[in-house]
Amino acid sequence: MLAGIDIGGTKTAFALGERQGDEIAASWRRATEPTQDASADLLRMADDVRTLLEEAGLAPGELEAVGVSAAGPLDPGQGVLLEPPNLPWHRAPVVGVLSQALGCPVFLDNDANAAALAEWLYGAGRGTRHMVYLTMSTGVGAGLVLDGRIHRGVACSAGEVGHVPVVWDGEPCSCGMRGCLEAYVGGAAWTRRLVEHTPPSSRVAALTPAGATPRPEQVVLAAREGDAFALSELARFNDYLARGIVQVAFTLAPELVVLGTIPTAAGEALCLDPVREQVHARLWPVIGDGLRIEASGLGESLPDYAGLSVAREGLARS
Ligand SMILES: [Zn+2]
Repeated sequence: MLAGIDIGGTKTAFALGERQGDEIAASWRRATEPTQDASADLLRMADDVRTLLEEAGLAPGELEAVGVSAAGPLDPGQGVLLEPPNLPWHRAPVVGVLSQALGCPVFLDNDANAAALAEWLYGAGRGTRHMVYLTMSTGVGAGLVLDGRIHRGVACSAGEVGHVPVVWDGEPCSCGMRGCLEAYVGGAAWTRRLVEHTPPSSRVAALTPAGATPRPEQVVLAAREGDAFALSELARFNDYLARGIVQVAFTLAPELVVLGTIPTAAGEALCLDPVREQVHARLWPVIGDGLRIEASGLGESLPDYAGLSVAREGLARS
């Protein structure tokens, strides 16, 4: 039996699953509630895994491996999460603490790689050899499956597609550079733009809960109702997203690009079809003809599979 832990800034997902097959044997989610003490937080997560095993009627000795997915730069050799952007941890010894507490191998990977693995092993990417997973949640990141394995690059930093410039000297980005893809299609950047530009008369404003700021979710809802501002915002999003995908496609020639978060929520007519059209118009046929662009196959259940995928890949590698 494998266990997966997906550590998010607000929620942590735990899941048990077999090494083969795609059934989740047990799962649960709770608020992450991180403290300054990463080791104590990790020990609490080990307790969660033990509880889940117990609930599934399994002995602790039946656990073969644990996979952990988390945002941020990590040291894969040391199994340490360095400076996670959404947690108050500094050099969190994830692998050391969990492997000692649970008595089995523990594998750690970043959330983009884990999501790519999850889509590849359980979701939209099954059966492909060359697949890119692109997420546009707070930031923009990619996980690359090339020739049937995750490509990590120097310092595990491959896939930073969010910081490919799509406009030279364009909008400022959270990374300190300008014109990055993330500054146009990242959830945080788009939310900042919506706060500034949403007309009070638009459906986006009407659909935003009182006291909250407008977010991409409301743009998607308002666009479904035909709101002009929402449609123009989505058209802008699709345009920049297509620029990013074209760069990825010319560089890697994948069979499939899986789009998580906003495009999955917006769906075919509002996002995927216009993006496909723009991307294919810019690509050479030899690359474009072999490329599919699809929404996430796992959607909301992705966190349940992210950690399990890291465990499966780690075992296959070791
Ligand atoms: Zn950037």
